[in-house]
Amino acid sequence: MQSSRILSFLSNKEKLIAEARRFTGSNFRRILRDGHARRRPRPCGLTVHVALNCPFACTYCYIEDMGFKFQQPIKYPLSSLETVYAIALNPYFIPGKMGTFLAIGSISEPFHPAIYENTLSLIRLINEKLGNPIQFSTKMYLNEGVIIKLSEQMKDRSISPLITIVTLKYHDKLEPRTPPPEKRFETIEKLSERGFKPTLFLRPIIPGIIEEEIDDLLEKAYEHGAYSIVVGSLRVSNKIIDRLMNAGIDVTSIIERINKPLKASEQFTIETSKEKKLIREKAEKLGLIYLQSACCANALSAGVPCYSLCFTSKICTKCPNNCPSKLPKADEESVQEVIRFLTFKLVDVEVKGFDIYVYGHFSKKKRSQVKVVLSTIFRRRVYFA
Ligand code: SF4
Ligand code: SF4
Repeated sequence: MQSSRILSFLSNKEKLIAEARRFTGSNFRRILRDGHARRRPRPCGLTVHVALNCPFACTYCYIEDMGFKFQQPIKYPLSSLETVYAIALNPYFIPGKMGTFLAIGSISEPFHPAIYENTLSLIRLINEKLGNPIQFSTKMYLNEGVIIKLSEQMKDRSISPLITIVTLKYHDKLEPRTPPPEKRFETIEKLSERGFKPTLFLRPIIPGIIEEEIDDLLEKAYEHGAYSIVVGSLRVSNKIIDRLMNAGIDVTSIIERINKPLKASEQFTIETSKEKKLIREKAEKLGLIYLQSACCANALSAGVPCYSLCFTSKICTKCPNNCPSKLPKADEESVQEVIRFLTFKLVDVEVKGFDIYVYGHFSKKKRSQVKVVLSTIFRRRVYFA
């Protein structure tokens, strides 16, 4: 039984790869070279790009430091279907509801008017062909038409919408070109009415601003139907500090937390545990589910254990998803079977609670793949002994 579950994961992936070869013809090599087919997933899952660049130029945004521009979005060079095939080809990727989490919206705004149709078609195709938990983050106002389409595409509502709102009063300075927060609260309300579990995405927390606004912000989100809240710290570079200052933001509480000189486009995460504690107390008092990581919101929406195994660390806030109760079975034989499939090697393994120990030598690249794939399929931490 366990063995057939594992084999179905792997054979679904093989089928998708065969389909990609069949339908993409001479484009297959181009797809194989794409970042979606190669990059290692981040802790919150595999980031999926619909576009490059973003015209909103939020003052705290770090995409410029990553080499992207505050310009009109350029559609991603692969079509939606090609992107889905590229994801399937990724050696770290496992398809299915218990597979790799997919996160849309890290280097652009996925519902910008110029690209939202591509985003919707990508979501539809991921759902149809891969079936993985999907999450998106947005600052756009999603109108009725978009939400109806999402509802039709995601009948089981297993998509996690993160609606970013970090300020009410300083919106003009921090996000001068985005729709105002009021419109985003409307988005939360509409999503909630349609049965989704919208999350207030309070990232980045901006010290010096959040203390003043937190009550209002949380109350509004709750009143409009937010199901949970995900918080995240501010990441700054020299450029971001300059932009904040030029916008007239008091950066004293930010600068006093930077304990070293920053190199050119180096990013530094501002410590915000004090603010997070305050937000948690207030959010839970209201009845919002407090989460410390975006992957937990995705897990909660999909009803599966967290992809980045937050339940094994202090990040877990013991939300109703109760990941430990949903862990797949992991026995030595199944773990060996996956390793043999990936490496053609039979090695000793041990499974202890949330941990898997692998006794074998692999190249650095193979080791990395084995680690990610085992952790995804079995939702356990993987150690090489
Ligand atoms: S909307 Fe997102 S990607 Fe666009 S500028 Fe703002 S923070 Fe950056
Ligand atoms: S139970 Fe813990 S790890 Fe799982 S989704 Fe909830 S907060 Fe995250």
